[in-house]
Amino acid sequence: MEGLVFAITASASGIGLGIALEAAKQGAVVIVSSRNQAHVDSALELVRRHSPKSVGVVCHVGKAADRQRMVELALTTFGRIDALVLNAASEAQVSKMWEINYTATYRLAVEALPALRKSSSGSIVVLSSISAYEPRETRMISHYGATKAALLHLTKQLALELPELKVNAVAPGIIKTRFSEGLWKGREKEVEEASGVRLGEVEDVANVVLFLAHPKTTYITGETIIVAGKPSPRL
Ligand code: NAP
Repeated sequence: MEGLVFAITASASGIGLGIALEAAKQGAVVIVSSRNQAHVDSALELVRRHSPKSVGVVCHVGKAADRQRMVELALTTFGRIDALVLNAASEAQVSKMWEINYTATYRLAVEALPALRKSSSGSIVVLSSISAYEPRETRMISHYGATKAALLHLTKQLALELPELKVNAVAPGIIKTRFSEGLWKGREKEVEEASGVRLGEVEDVANVVLFLAHPKTTYITGETIIVAGKPSPRL
């Protein structure tokens, strides 16, 4: 990972920060980003302990000007992006979920192409979710899952359109972050016993993302790896 340039959306906390820290520990430089400058600053401080040349930028993925600023920062500071990690998501109302989870992901992937094409190992990793495979009775969770299922299709589509890059996705199970705490906080043991698997840590996902983005992982594109600690029902 030495010297690789990672641009990671929503990396001020949770899985995004976990990916940023693991990449930094393995020698990458990271562009840390989220909607809030103070959040970016504190995350960047942590990342710079391992990778002093890393930088931060405010990037609300739903805002075109913010996305453009992130790509321009990558080009002016590092001359390229080696790994673009599309990690931002919303669980708000349906239209917002589609805007952030799907449309913004698609747009940033396209807008970052000039920077990715300057890399000799350009790679995109999309954060989907196990919920992509599991329709739920709860309507909002089901809509969230639908946006994450659409990302699986987008991943294949982009991989077909962009054979010069790798485009893959990860679909995590329940990972212990603020995003998912409604599902487990205060009843970790109960949830673990019911599902038969421990709750995931951000590092569980981060290491799979790094595997997919690694320059030596050359012969895989358009695929999704489920990261849920147990075999999924998907064949
Ligand atoms: P998290 O802990 O809640 O972190 C969310 C991060 O996103 C924060 O840094 C937040 O920072 C940033 N953010 C929120 N909205 C944003 C936007 N519109 N633009 C840019 N940044 C934004 O969430 P997480 O659990 O790490 O989730 C990360 C990804 O993993 C998501 O795509 C989620 O769907 C997926 N996932 C999570 C789980 C899980 O169990 N946790 C399971 C499957 C999939 P600011 O507030 O500073 O913007």
